Amino acid sequence: MRETGTPATLRAEKVSVVIGGRALVQDVTFQVGPGEVVALVGPNGAGKSTLLRTLYRALRPTSGRVLLDGEDVWRMPGRRLARRLAAVLQETPGEFDLTVYDVTAMGRTPYKRAFQGDDADDRRIIMDALESLDVADLAEAPFDRLSGGEKQRVLIARALAQGTGTMVLDEPTNHLDMRHQLDALQQVRRLGVTAIVALHDLNLAAAFGDRICVLNAGRVVATGPPAAVLTPALLEEVYRVTADVHSDPRTGIPQISVMPYGRSASPGADGRPPK
Ligand code: ADP
Ligand code: MG
Repeated sequence: MRETGTPATLRAEKVSVVIGGRALVQDVTFQVGPGEVVALVGPNGAGKSTLLRTLYRALRPTSGRVLLDGEDVWRMPGRRLARRLAAVLQETPGEFDLTVYDVTAMGRTPYKRAFQGDDADDRRIIMDALESLDVADLAEAPFDRLSGGEKQRVLIARALAQGTGTMVLDEPTNHLDMRHQLDALQQVRRLGVTAIVALHDLNLAAAFGDRICVLNAGRVVATGPPAAVLTPALLEEVYRVTADVHSDPRTGIPQISVMPYGRSASPGADGRPPK
């Protein structure tokens, strides 16, 4: 079994981020409880990545605080924070000559002294993580040569190998095919960690989020269980689309179908777009 830390409560308290005079995140307060998975959604440019960056301490909020079990993350030693909070980022920096195994092994760094190598436990944790993301057969491959989807899965594996109880994931299913999208999110769920996950796909968000948090123009405009939040009115207001929301008869999970041509341009009788 993989060692996973205790799931923490992750809380943003009145977090604002102002860059160049523009408020990218405005007065955001929310909390993710122990073992809860919150899907963070919102249109492009809503501030999701900016907010997530403040949560994993890559960006200091202009005002407000980020608390992990009540402790301000900016006051925690980096190594201690890294044992408790892992992140999967959106932009993947070049990893030069590293193999997939080496990249994943970075997840074990917070547990090591300088120059200490991987022991048998580390190797097992690393290989388990790679296996759970279906990339174990790529362990010796150079990371830089992988496809976008394979890289993404390795970076999720690295976060799993970090063994933290809390994870921040920014569009971790980007570039993944349907099966690997489901697998990746299922792995996060299976661990029982506290997670906040930015997702583009609202149907995935509805399926995997215990709650959904909707960000629009830097503000939280709705938060709650998927069926309560993902209403046609909200989709119209936030995404400017006309959508139908119905409950999947097998699972009860809300499913969204967007009307192809929006409200102002209704298709002709033959279903084709208007000329
Ligand atoms: P999302 O992830 O929801 O698409 P982002 O958080 O990436 O949104 O971006 C929110 C807004 O902030 C966008 O308009 C983006 O262009 C802007 N932005 C992001 N980072 C910076 C930065 N470092 N400096 C200035 N503007 C930024
Ligand atoms: Mg983003």
